[in-house]
Amino acid sequence: MYVVCPDHLSEAIDDFVEVYEQPPDLYELDKVSFTDWITPNTCDFCDKGPKYLVV
Ligand SMILES: [Zn+2]
Repeated sequence: MYVVCPDHLSEAIDDFVEVYEQPPDLYELDKVSFTDWITPNTCDFCDKGPKYLVV
């Protein structure tokens, strides 16, 4: 699972496909909420605010 900014979305998808050998599902963070999960404040690849969830 990756939480990324728009700049790193393609990088996260590439990583995901490499690790899991299948295409990920994409969600916009402001359109989903998980009761037991606190959205990270930063992208997994840089210090910007994340926008997408790649799972
Ligand atoms: Zn980023």
